[in-house]
Amino acid sequence: MGLLLYLNCREPGAEDKFKEISNAYEVLLDDEKRSIYDKYGEAGLKGAGMGMGDFSNPFDLFESLFEGMGGMGGGGMGGRGSRNRATEGEDQIYNLVLNFKEAVFGVEKEIDITRLDSCSTCDGSGAKPGTKPSRCNTCGGQGQVVSSARTPLGVFQQVMTCSTCNGSGEISTPCNTCRGDGRGKKSKRISLKVPAGVDSGSRLRVRSEGNAGRRGGPPGDLFVSIDVLSDPVLKRDDTNILYTCKVSYIDAILGTTMKVPTVDGVVDLRIPSGTQPGTTLVMAKKGVPYLNKSNIRGDQLVRVQVEIPKRLSGDEKKLIEDLASLNKTKAASSKR
Ligand SMILES: [Zn+2]
Ligand SMILES: [Zn+2]
Repeated sequence: MGLLLYLNCREPGAEDKFKEISNAYEVLLDDEKRSIYDKYGEAGLKGAGMGMGDFSNPFDLFESLFEGMGGMGGGGMGGRGSRNRATEGEDQIYNLVLNFKEAVFGVEKEIDITRLDSCSTCDGSGAKPGTKPSRCNTCGGQGQVVSSARTPLGVFQQVMTCSTCNGSGEISTPCNTCRGDGRGKKSKRISLKVPAGVDSGSRLRVRSEGNAGRRGGPPGDLFVSIDVLSDPVLKRDDTNILYTCKVSYIDAILGTTMKVPTVDGVVDLRIPSGTQPGTTLVMAKKGVPYLNKSNIRGDQLVRVQVEIPKRLSGDEKKLIEDLASLNKTKAASSKR
């Protein structure tokens, strides 16, 4: 991968442009400097004594850029860009499937991950033990090669990672175990504390359990991506749990007590007399604990579905008809 920068210092004004670009990179790479830049502009940086200085040698600039990028942990650009430098390992993703209650209350899980670990044969150096690296002839040990191209805008110089030494500046006899990478696949069992209240789409970060870095660089992180299986009767709505219960028309009129499943087990729910169809009853604090505030819980919301019978026995029909005529008398008397 190449990095294209405007480097022609011979044309008038070119030097200023060059500095502008290099300042922009520096600001993007450093949070503290970026906030100063946002507030006070370039003058702020200079005033704070953090200007980029004078790059008479283009390699000084590239080194500082790669240093910064390596720290960002992207893996891509900083990867193999410069001389035998430590680079951070890549992040890893693990997909974890939890059942409904595990997600609600949290769980401890043992997971087996396979990731790149430092090679034990070469101790991560990538070189065959007992051999000594020699300087790369293609790039003269710089790790980079420069090619120029003349364009209407001026001369562009493109700096490429040396393909002979992959940017290390050295040629070494590769380790037989890892073929020179310095890392090899290894399995590891990790015990994971999943906090209460996670949901599908939640991501946990386990620091330093990603791939090992190169040449002694820090390891990447492990990201655990969570997927939650649905429950046949309980539905999750963020920190609330939704449930629908069926109540006979008689119970809705007279009131009753129902056995209702919750994540805490079966709990009695009082259905008050005169409950209307579609009413939502709240079972306080029977919901999901808040993520990272597990002493606070959501509610279980119970929607009441009132069932009207499609068939009645003869006795039932008689009673309903009596009820109907009673209702008529009542209506007539209230008109009077
Ligand atoms: Zn090795
Ligand atoms: Zn080289």
